[in-house]
Amino acid sequence: MTNIIGIDLGTTNSLCAVFQNGQPRLIPNALGQLLTPSVVGILESGEVLVGAAAKELAVTSPETCVARFKQWMGSDRKVTLRNRELTPVELSSFVLRSLKEDAERFLNGQVAEAVITVPAYFNDGQRRATKMAGSLAGLKVRRIINEPTAAALTYGFHDKKAEKQLVVLDLGGGTFDVTLMEVFDGSLEIVATAGENFLGGEEFTDRLAAELCKRIGLPFEQAELTQPLMIARLRQNCELAKRTLADSDQVVVRVPNKDGSAGSESAEVQISRHEFARLSQPLLDRLQRPIHKVLRDANLTPEQVDEVILVGGATRMPVLQQFVSEQLACQPRCELNPDQVVALGAAVQAALIQDDAAVEDMVMTDVCPHTLGVEVVKELGGQLRDGYYTPIIHRNTTIPVSKEQTLFTVHPNQTVVNIAVYQGESRRVAENVRLGQVSVNNVPLGPAGQPIVIRFTYDVNGILEVEAFMQDSKERFVTVISTDHSMTDEELEEAQRRMQAFKFYPRDDIRNRHLLHYAEQTVGEVNPLFRDQLESAVDHFETAMSAGDPEIFDTARTNLLSCLASLGFPFDQA
Ligand code: ADP
Ligand code: MG
Repeated sequence: MTNIIGIDLGTTNSLCAVFQNGQPRLIPNALGQLLTPSVVGILESGEVLVGAAAKELAVTSPETCVARFKQWMGSDRKVTLRNRELTPVELSSFVLRSLKEDAERFLNGQVAEAVITVPAYFNDGQRRATKMAGSLAGLKVRRIINEPTAAALTYGFHDKKAEKQLVVLDLGGGTFDVTLMEVFDGSLEIVATAGENFLGGEEFTDRLAAELCKRIGLPFEQAELTQPLMIARLRQNCELAKRTLADSDQVVVRVPNKDGSAGSESAEVQISRHEFARLSQPLLDRLQRPIHKVLRDANLTPEQVDEVILVGGATRMPVLQQFVSEQLACQPRCELNPDQVVALGAAVQAALIQDDAAVEDMVMTDVCPHTLGVEVVKELGGQLRDGYYTPIIHRNTTIPVSKEQTLFTVHPNQTVVNIAVYQGESRRVAENVRLGQVSVNNVPLGPAGQPIVIRFTYDVNGILEVEAFMQDSKERFVTVISTDHSMTDEELEEAQRRMQAFKFYPRDDIRNRHLLHYAEQTVGEVNPLFRDQLESAVDHFETAMSAGDPEIFDTARTNLLSCLASLGFPFDQA
């Protein structure tokens, strides 16, 4: 059987897993690490860097790298890296291609299919964009599943006999998802889901960075535009500080100089855990809404929740854990690594698709996260008014689902009806997200009020198809609700060719780049007495990297590794 891999394509980090010998297993990347930062960089040579190497490059040359592009999936936004214009779909495809290559190396064979996870709150366009990114990476996307569902699958897989109401809270780098589910004897039923697409751990880092800027009298927003190097370095320091505050009461953060350099002369600011909690409060307030919404939709009180599962790196923050136990009146569970549960669950889903014996007693049902409907005209006070919204599939309906509704023509002899399809909860379409439209253009002449049937079909991937037809007519007008990301086969082939033309930075060299970066950072850390010694070993290694003589290179590498080890900074070669 071919392997379907499970991929957690995260805003901050991505992971890849496979179901093997009755268990989901994570797949290490070229550096031997399980987490691959979702960062893409383009080198002067035009080669593409993905992961830790790109994240490192982003600190010294931010203009050649991009991170957090998942937040722009489904939008028209583009970024330019070294004169190459790239869409979020294309950038994501680089991450997927890199994970695919890691999996092929690990499994010693070709990998052509994947299950990819998305935030539950991703809309139709964002899901399609994710599928497209898979295609561009040469992966057939067998299923798109919601991240919290994947997390629950992992817990469900380990705890099949349970019977409870479970809440999964996933706070990643850029998104927040809440999902309520019922677990009952191997069956997992998602009851309700809600979330926010622009709220994650990175916002907590930004709050900290903004505070530090304020303390030294620098407006943060302005600095973001005018001093990108300084901000890149400051964010890195704040990220570290945020993590340190998980275990310590205080942290001292160095604020880099305007040019991004940081030495003993640059400013230092002290922040306490208490101050960090205060800075985080507005963000915590925003987390409340989706939690309450989910409880309301499921008709449950916080006390009726039996268990809370924490997912996503940012749930490691004590302020978050404290907040959750206050909100849901129970101690959250996090015995499985919060970074890993989503990818592992994607692999469990892959096993379900492949009918693996280890999951034969598991069943899972998911819901549609948004209400889906159409624009209608209302007669109010004797006047026809447009711009109103009629739901056809309500949010949190179990999927797959197909629902019909009959609408009526408004004008006499109206031969064409354009039906605009929307997603959202508002009474007016202007406040919802327009997904597309379907037109019926064979309405026979006649009075107003002729019936037209609209059928919405929402599949297990969370993708919507809309059909419209006259009751008695055989002619069907169908639209797979499409955004700008839909392509013809030819366009897709062309896009795949364009992506394949990007060469990846060679895999083995990534490890060496990583070593070089580590050694360079260490130069500033070692006791100044030994700095020259290390610097010379780094110089040799850097020269050998470009010289192309394998023997000289091996010697230089071995020499650098032992130099680092002898100075108390061993390089973890994984
Ligand atoms: P995503 O799913 O969006 O890729 P992750 O689940 O990998 O995100 O979480 C990334 C976020 O978790 C980042 O904002 C990071 O700063 C935060 N994070 C990771 N570890 C810690 C920690 N120990 N303390 C606080 N925040 C952390
Ligand atoms: Mg995640």
